[in-house]
Amino acid sequence: METVYFNGKFIPKDEVRISPDDRGFLFADGIYEVVRWYGKAFYDMEGHIRRLKRSLGELMINWIETEAFPVVAETLVKDNKFENSPTMVYLQVTRGAAKRTHYFPVPEVHPTSYAFAFTFNPDEQSFIKGIRVLLRPDIRWSRCDIKSIALLPNTISFQEAYTQGYKECIFVRDNLITEGAHSNIFFVSENTLYTHPESNYILSGITRNNVIRMAKKAGIRVTEEAIREDELGGLQEAFISNTSAEVTPVIELGGVTIGTGAPGPVTRRLQELFRKETEALKG
Ligand code: PLP
Repeated sequence: METVYFNGKFIPKDEVRISPDDRGFLFADGIYEVVRWYGKAFYDMEGHIRRLKRSLGELMINWIETEAFPVVAETLVKDNKFENSPTMVYLQVTRGAAKRTHYFPVPEVHPTSYAFAFTFNPDEQSFIKGIRVLLRPDIRWSRCDIKSIALLPNTISFQEAYTQGYKECIFVRDNLITEGAHSNIFFVSENTLYTHPESNYILSGITRNNVIRMAKKAGIRVTEEAIREDELGGLQEAFISNTSAEVTPVIELGGVTIGTGAPGPVTRRLQELFRKETEALKG
């Protein structure tokens, strides 16, 4: 039986009981975080904890167990015997259960917390060959910097991509490429790496931030500036970044072939650098 973490306890999944009054259920009033296990450790747990605290702070959810999450996550990996498999841990924290009102519960209620570990098959084919992605208007709200569980714009956009055989849906807002339904996006033009700056229109991806750090260290010029939709035809390379896909080349975006239509050298170099860091976590 799968062991999960629920409100401070490790219990079998089928013993979890969540109230129908939970504000996560009624309002999507909560946040989440996803970390990846690489055999001996999680990748940049500190970065994920920082973002988790920020998301909770922006929504004024007082969850006091944030500092315990690294131990919770590792316990879930080990108790479920996932140590030697590609594994992720998903955590969700909602404001808790209370009478349905638009104002936050008074007095405050205990947040509901739920975390589980799951194994997955990394998409090596996409990592090697690159992916084709859809381009759609960014129909999300203007607080995309919060890792909120309200993901309907992301899921319906991704579903459209998925049913058409694309691996991601990339968003465009006011002619500017923002990010993907569950990834950030980078471009290479004239030997410079471009990505949308941190703002309320994108999530500050942990992978994104590490890719920027690695690129700068490797002497690659980085400009945190958005690419316009009409510039896509003149770019040399593109890739998406997220916790599961790491650095995955994009060879076609919105029907436009990127560069030569094959993963380029800057992308390959960053894939190498990223893998070097994750290999070190395998012990
Ligand atoms: N942008 C969005 C909208 C996401 O949902 C995600 C991850 O799921 C990312 C970017 C990438 O974030 P990370 O690199 O922390 O996985």
